[in-house]
Amino acid sequence: MSHAESLPRGSVEDDRVPCGEEGCTRFALRFATMCALHLENPQDWRAAVVAHKHELEGAYLEETDLRDLDLSGARLKKADLWGARLEGASLDGAELTTADGTNLRLENASLKNANLEGMNLTRAQLGGADLSGACLDGAECLEMEAPGAKFAGAHCEETNLRRAVLEGADLSGAKIIDSDMWETKLSRANFTGAELRESQLACSTGANVIFKNANLRAAKLPRVEWDSPDLSGADFCGADLEGAILKNIEADAQTILFEKGGALKIFGGGGKLKGDDPLMSPAKAAALAPVYEAFAAAFDSAARTKEAKHLRSRAEACRKKSAD
Ligand SMILES: [Zn+2]
Repeated sequence: MSHAESLPRGSVEDDRVPCGEEGCTRFALRFATMCALHLENPQDWRAAVVAHKHELEGAYLEETDLRDLDLSGARLKKADLWGARLEGASLDGAELTTADGTNLRLENASLKNANLEGMNLTRAQLGGADLSGACLDGAECLEMEAPGAKFAGAHCEETNLRRAVLEGADLSGAKIIDSDMWETKLSRANFTGAELRESQLACSTGANVIFKNANLRAAKLPRVEWDSPDLSGADFCGADLEGAILKNIEADAQTILFEKGGALKIFGGGGKLKGDDPLMSPAKAAALAPVYEAFAAAFDSAARTKEAKHLRSRAEACRKKSAD
């Protein structure tokens, strides 16, 4: 996508002056008369960016090379960072709210406790970046690629992560609430102790995803394809697993599963298997039978034959219903 096709910049402030270079349609940096491309000495202007890092609100830094700079604590609110290069940079504690980071390169950058609320990170590259404790509330992270990135303890409320790549990412203890993770790639992602309440993970795929002690209450999980997920202690109360493909579930003995109102539930201790939902449609029953079978196999391997037997009877009831 070329710059001309990028999203309108309605959120960026309008008090900017044009670049002093004749014929240039870009804006001058806050602390200079030229845009980043027309500053005479790139090394000088990189130093200038660092020296002025607390006055970069709304700065026009599109496609600039800011690699490896120390921009910790920088004020980049509403900054235009479209396609900018920030690989290896330190942005710990930086203020990036509502900045435009479309196509931004952030590989191996450090963004610990940074504020990225409402930031646009569409198709941004965050491989190996550290966003521990960062805030991504309301951020637009469509097709963001973040393999091996750290989001431990990060806050993601109403964040759009559709089709994001999170393979091998550390999301332990992250608060991901009411967010959209539709069709995300999750192989080896670690959600230990994460909050995923009411989040949308439909059609997400991956092997060896870890959901140990994760809260997946009322999460939307239809048609997920998870191979060998660790679901030990995970709370799926009220979660929707219709049509989920779950192979080789790993779960410790504290995990139990039951159903209410057609939704599948896993419960840590004390849960009871409820009767068949008379309102369940044959199609839903057909989609849930293999889910029960998958959990039955998990209980079998944990030597919990009683629960496994119950789950197999639920699977059988679903198959019977689906034949109606
Ligand atoms: Zn210029």
